[in-house]
Formats: sequence, structure tokens, C-alpha cells
Amino acid sequence: MQQQINRQIFLVKRPTGIPDESCFKLVSSAILQPASGQVLLKTRFISVDPYMRGRMNNRKSYVPPFKLNQVLSGGVVGEVIESKSNNFIAGDFVVGNLGWQDYSIADEKEVQKINPEIAPVSTALGVLGMPGLTAYFGLLDIGQPKQAETIVVSGAAGAVGMIVGQIAKIHGCHVVGIAGSDKKTNYIIGELGFDAAINYRSTPDLKKTLKEACPDGVDIYFDNVGGEISDAVLSSINNNARIVLCGQISLYNATRIPMGPRIQPQLLTHSALMKGFIIRNYVDRFDEGRNQLANWLQEKKLKYTENVVEGLENTPKAFIGLFTGENIGKQLVKVEHDAVTEKR
Ligand code: NAP
Repeated sequence: MQQQINRQIFLVKRPTGIPDESCFKLVSSAILQPASGQVLLKTRFISVDPYMRGRMNNRKSYVPPFKLNQVLSGGVVGEVIESKSNNFIAGDFVVGNLGWQDYSIADEKEVQKINPEIAPVSTALGVLGMPGLTAYFGLLDIGQPKQAETIVVSGAAGAVGMIVGQIAKIHGCHVVGIAGSDKKTNYIIGELGFDAAINYRSTPDLKKTLKEACPDGVDIYFDNVGGEISDAVLSSINNNARIVLCGQISLYNATRIPMGPRIQPQLLTHSALMKGFIIRNYVDRFDEGRNQLANWLQEKKLKYTENVVEGLENTPKAFIGLFTGENIGKQLVKVEHDAVTEKR
């Protein structure tokens, strides 16, 4: 048998601003054995997500901060290689909140089985996982899209944004996406069927460009980014607009919270609703969301793309890339198991 090594990625320094690689360290430890009711998993895909940046600060939030000098964790798809649970057998694919590491021990209640016949297993971290569900419930429950309404979505070429725009198209909306490169805007128009897209990095006047792309004003704003992009969109809202506060990525690395326009008069005079949400609020309805998203995939009404970086050691780089806009679609890390780390 090969030497059994479990490579793990630790957080060793809390970032200031955009994280760099010095915040992370690759360490080796032993592979543990599963106890009764547990499984041993080989990591296949790791999801890197913007919310993890908040957990790297030592600050109270809706999830506790990551601890220094411990393995980082998040959404992971793994393959069961040894089972001491009646619910799983070797070869099953599962998804759960697990470590950035080659192998994990998980309690049977911590992971859910994935059906690989519905879609590739990686989609359990993307379109059929947390980002897809975020798009589904945020848009339908808070955004309440109606035929012929105009929706603007920021972060439009990312994991959540690209699904939001497509669900809005399914509901007959005029869909305008905002993203950070021409490659991204071309993709969401050409491949995903958005009606218009704006590259916020190259447009000289975002407010003006938005007004041109939304001649009837904005009924729904699905906000993934916050900051100046959101300030510009809010200047175009219609009466009874719904503003879905999903994410504020432009502020996650801020060392000082910038002062923006005071938006309350804009909301008041337009009888607008602005509501934040955390996807976990909808946990009781996840099956409903997943089934509908899977049906749309099968009916080819929904497309998705994944930006896959290879190698556990490149997980920090993939994570940092979220803040420099490297990804189109869901950012994943595919974990390869070479001769040294391969258990069997
Ligand atoms: P993502 O959009 O796939 O990746 C992040 C993207 O954000 C980047 O590709 C980049 O695209 C954009 N970005 C980065 N820095 C930016 C900045 N300073 N200004 C404007 N855009 C910036 O990530 P995701 O997983 O789909 O998440 C999108 C948002 O939803 C995040 O804010 C996340 O925290 C939030 N979220 C919330 C929930 C919830 O429960 N409420 C759940 C999941 C995600 P560009 O090239 O376009 O800049």
C-alpha cells in the first residue's frame, strides 16, 4: 500500500484586502479511519465561494469565522471509498460541507447522496447546489418576476448571476446583465440569451448606459455586488421595484466601508422593496428548488458553465480569482489523486 497522505489547506493568516497566497498553507497529515456511522471520502470537487472571504475575518456574522491554522472548509463533492454507514456504499458520490483536503471523514448525516444520472456530480456545487438555489429562491421569492418586466442582475456571468438571468428569461422578463469583461457580456448574451449586457469596467457612464439598456426602467434588481454598480442601478428603479440583496462582493475586501448615496428616499418615493436573504433560510424548500432546476436543465431551458482549476494546491488561487473576476460561471477546483496521495 502507498504511504497515505492527506494534503490539507490551512488558513494561516487573516487577509487584509484581497487575500494573497501567503494567507494559506498546504500541509500534510494522515488519513483517518471512519468510525461507525461515518464514511471516508476522496475529494473530487471543491467549491470556492465569495462568502468564505467574510469567514476569514475575525468578526461575528451569520457563520462563525474560520480558525487560524486549521483546515479551510466549504462545499465539497466526494466519492465514498470506505463506508461504515448503512446509508452509503463505496462508489457513491456525496456533497457536504467538508475540508479543503484530499480525504475527509464525514458523519452520515453531514453529507447527501448525489444522483450522477441527473447531471455531472460537479453540478451539486453549482447549478443544482447552493448557487443555483440562491438564484432560484432569491429571484422567485423576493424578486417575484412578471412577464415583460425589466430585471438587472449584477455579477451576471458568475455562478448565481447566470442562473438568475436565465430564470428571469423563463418568466418572460427583459434581462440586463452587468459583468466585468467583454468575454463575459458576450457569453451571457450569445450563449445564455440575456437581452443586453454591460461591461461595467469599460463603460464610461454606467448610469447612462443602464438607462439605454432599460428604456422602461428597472422592476427587479438582483444585487450580487453592491457598491457603485448598485448605486447606478438604484437610480433607474420603477415604482414597486424589488431589490434582491444577495451579495455585496465589491465590499468584501474593503478595509473601510465606503459611504454611498442615501437610498431611503429613492426606495420610499418608488414604494420599492429591498430585502436581503441567506440561502439557508430556504433549507426546507431545497428539494423543490433542486427539482425545478434539474427539470429546466433537462428541458434545455437552463445552461450552466463551470470554471475548473485543477489540483488541490491551486484552491487558494481559484478562491482569490473570484475577487479579480477570473471565472465565468461556477468556480470549482478538481482534485486529482496522484500516486502519493492515492489510498487505493
Ligand atoms: P461569482 O459571481 O461566480 O464570482 C464572483 C464574481 O464577482 C467575479 O467573477 C467578478 O465578476 C465579480 N466581482 C468580484 N469583485 C467585484 C467587484 N469589486 N465589483 C463587481 N463585481 C465583482 O460568485 P457567486 O458564487 O455567484 O456569488 C455572487 C454573489 O452572491 C456574491 O456576492 C456572493 O457572496 C453572493 N451569494 C449570496 C448567497 C446568499 O445566501 N445570500 C449565496 C451565494 C452567493 P466580474 O468580472 O463581473 O467583476
